[in-house]
Amino acid sequence: MEKRVIFLGAPGSGKGTWAVFASRALGLAHLSTGDLLRRELSQKTALGLEAERYMTAGNLVPDELILKLVDREFDSIGGFILDGFPRTLNQAEALDDMLARRKLALDRVIYLAVPVEILVERITNRRVCLDCGAPYNLLSKKPKQEGVCDDCGGRVIQRADDNETALQQRLAAYEQATAPLLDYYRAQNKLVRYENVGAQTKAREAEFLDLLLGGA
Ligand code: AMP
Repeated sequence: MEKRVIFLGAPGSGKGTWAVFASRALGLAHLSTGDLLRRELSQKTALGLEAERYMTAGNLVPDELILKLVDREFDSIGGFILDGFPRTLNQAEALDDMLARRKLALDRVIYLAVPVEILVERITNRRVCLDCGAPYNLLSKKPKQEGVCDDCGGRVIQRADDNETALQQRLAAYEQATAPLLDYYRAQNKLVRYENVGAQTKAREAEFLDLLLGGA
């Protein structure tokens, strides 16, 4: 499958959850800059250590570091879902260039719309597998064995930035730097909106895949 799609939305809007589901269902690569950064950090690379202070405070990591991280990924993948990238106008323009250089184009951008009070509840109860990125939630989807990933047996943790203080900063960064991308992609006729509230039922999974593939 050669679809090239961006998932756009605030922290806690469900980008990661839907990206894990849709990438497995459609055989697309799932590229999450947050996951890539956390991996760099757990391996204590220079890039990871430099990014850490921004991430812990809930601020965006400088574009230059992010672009270095992302550019090399495109050499080895076909179709993809981008989760958490781009997050600034500068990153969106750099992405257009990276794709144009490879004679590729984006198919669509899915905007996951969620009211802010639900974002806060989701984030504070969120857990994630450090190895495969599988998402969990203490209210709606606990791992069967505490702290262990159902899918890969990896370590399930609470992210250091999933607390109220960092979250307020992340929401502010989203509003200021990332929300303008909605207009950017609307102008390119690529933007579709998905109201991401409620449980992930089979019916909603089918509806979501339809939206991603350009159906109904
Ligand atoms: P996420 O897992 O997408 O919520 O990202 C976690 C943190 O990593 C963010 O709060 C930022 O500090 C950093 N980050 C991830 N992706 C980007 C990006 N595209 N641009 C800048 N910072 C990013």
